[in-house]
Amino acid sequence: MNAEILAIGDEIISGRILDTNSQWLSIRLEDLGIRVLYHTAVADELEPLKEVFRQALERSDLVISTGGLGPSGNDLTREALAAAVGRALVTFPEALEHLQNLFTRRGRPLTEAHKKQALFPEGARMVPNPHGTAPGIELEVPRPGRSPGYVFCLPGVPAEMQDIFTQTVAARLLVLRGDKRVIIHRDIRTFGAPESQVEAMLPDLIRRGRDPRVGINASQGTIILRVMTEGADEAECRAKMEPTVKTIYSILGNLVFGENEDELQDAVLRLLEKSNKTLATAEWATGGMVAHWLNGVPGASRWYRGGWVANSLVGWQAIGELPPDVVAQQDLKSGRLVAAIAAACRQQFQTDFGLAIGPFPQDLPHADSPGGVHLALATVGETATRTVGIGGHPSMLRVFCGKHALNFLRLYLLEHS
Ligand code: ATP
Repeated sequence: MNAEILAIGDEIISGRILDTNSQWLSIRLEDLGIRVLYHTAVADELEPLKEVFRQALERSDLVISTGGLGPSGNDLTREALAAAVGRALVTFPEALEHLQNLFTRRGRPLTEAHKKQALFPEGARMVPNPHGTAPGIELEVPRPGRSPGYVFCLPGVPAEMQDIFTQTVAARLLVLRGDKRVIIHRDIRTFGAPESQVEAMLPDLIRRGRDPRVGINASQGTIILRVMTEGADEAECRAKMEPTVKTIYSILGNLVFGENEDELQDAVLRLLEKSNKTLATAEWATGGMVAHWLNGVPGASRWYRGGWVANSLVGWQAIGELPPDVVAQQDLKSGRLVAAIAAACRQQFQTDFGLAIGPFPQDLPHADSPGGVHLALATVGETATRTVGIGGHPSMLRVFCGKHALNFLRLYLLEHS
């Protein structure tokens, strides 16, 4: 079964809101083993809407739309669907009753405009919407010489749409898919090599048509390998995946830092806990981002004691605890100041590690070469340093830099545990 998602609404077409519904639905459909081939966005205009429904039913087995189910004259999803499949719109008594009850509970009269929300194309099923006025629509559409197509129209409000999908539509799709098989996936997350390099390291695994399938994608510098398969039950799927997962781990080694929802800060805190070591941070380029990430991990304060943030030499001087002779070493290009900050930070917070992140070279007063960002990791006996070249879109530089710093610490912990 392949699918198409329609995002309906002038707000989307005009760019005033971002179509997050299609993104959310695509992820859910993939989890159900349904391949999404198209995302289509369309304005609140009857003719284009009709055309989009027709075209979608022609090329996709499943069509899920969001938006345009409201009471206003602009909300045309139900009219367009009915016209596209040549059915009349009829009032569903159960939908009218749902609306009547909802309005009575809210102490408001049910208006004629809202009664429109009880209209469905003939032969449709109502998809309950416990928290909103607009019930969803399910419609089976015969297609000559082929299996029928299925349309689900859901409201645009993301929270309502998500509830309806999770509570009703997902189970219906499993029935319609006519396959009791289970689909599972496992995301293996890596950091430290670009997507092209990771792909080149695993050429045979990322081949199309392979089972288990291995997909690769990048998110803010993290490269994620998604291993997916289907089978009669979860145990069968997991057993089928195991050799592929093992191969990925053995080829990628320390590039792998975790699975599924893991971030680098989770991996770092796990390693700190394992080695019973504490950490403090001193951030220049990342402006406190690393501290924020670390503090977001439950229980982080047992291993992460806190940190300093400053964004200029004056700022570092203002941190009273930093010895004056440290800031006097204004040798920013070689990274000696960053190393000194790491050591001072470790000492001040009385931790096993002090992790310092230097400035972006372009932010320094006399930047004449691209250079890189200096990282320093102070331990009881020594301070290790590293310089990383950070490139990419300006909005992502801090994130990349913070991830490199956490990865620097992660690799150190792995090597020294
Ligand atoms: P309502 O009964 O609230 O009018 P509806 O089904 O008609 O519901 P719309 O009016 O199209 O939905 O959208 C309601 C709101 O939901 C929009 O103002 C927007 O904030 C949000 N929304 C709609 N479509 C999307 C989308 N594709 N992605 C994210 N948000 C959306």
